[in-house]
Amino acid sequence: MRHLFFCILCVLFFSCKKDKFPQNLVDGTEVIIENQAYVVHSMIYAGDRPWTTSNIFIFNGLGDTVWLYGSGYGDFTDACTDCNDNNFYLGEKMHGTGPASADVKEVDSVITHLFRRNRDSVLLQFIVPHYHNDHINNEFIDAFHTVFDYPLRSDEKIWIHTNDLFGATCNEPCCGTEPCPDKKNNKYFGVPYLPSWKPEYIALFNAIGTPQDACDTPLKTITTTSGNWIVTKALSVQDGGHTDGTINLKNYEKKMVIAGTKSRFQCPYPEDWQFMSVHGNISGATVGDE
Ligand SMILES: [Zn+2]
Repeated sequence: MRHLFFCILCVLFFSCKKDKFPQNLVDGTEVIIENQAYVVHSMIYAGDRPWTTSNIFIFNGLGDTVWLYGSGYGDFTDACTDCNDNNFYLGEKMHGTGPASADVKEVDSVITHLFRRNRDSVLLQFIVPHYHNDHINNEFIDAFHTVFDYPLRSDEKIWIHTNDLFGATCNEPCCGTEPCPDKKNNKYFGVPYLPSWKPEYIALFNAIGTPQDACDTPLKTITTTSGNWIVTKALSVQDGGHTDGTINLKNYEKKMVIAGTKSRFQCPYPEDWQFMSVHGNISGATVGDE
């Protein structure tokens, strides 16, 4: 009975605090559109508490293609000071779901069981929400090819906005700029570098857009079984955006937008659209600062 009372208190506490700790934050896979689009949640914990998820969206493409938007945290199991870039930037208190292969195992399950694809003939296409290490990293790409034996095809690509290309691929803490780590003053805080990029994956990067692209500029259309998803430019930093190369996905037919940042400043979208982002669960998504 005392236990039950304590639980009720916890529920009340967390409902009030939901901006910081969303209720019922879960890892695992969520359905967006049955058999067509899913999201796998890579989890980050602050101490024992789930902090947020970094989302990997999976779209059933046409032909051999499977589209992936977001990467999860990569290799991030036990907290350490010098074994992964997450702890370098965020401190030792944080830890993650596991190695990248734990996230890719779930993605692979969607591809092979729900999309009923044969790994040997899958063409992977990655889209980078923005250049931070919780949305693009070497380990995520590598796990497909070295752990799950997806073929590394010559037409496989990592699509990124041109403004975020350098940050994603510089392969150094804060791209070699100082002070680092410094979240407030260093624009390259949070770029991926450890483990460092294998050259064969750096070669997959394909920049889209132009440096001056305005909010909502269409950059590319991806064709999937759930219709066309338009890759569009998000707000630039000077307009309140997260990085200068953040990109969103929009589906006019399904009235859905997936934002490449959880930032409270977003390009406008119609009121009756479903808003999702690269952080947090789909049901009960909140808007914050990531
Ligand atoms: Zn970010």
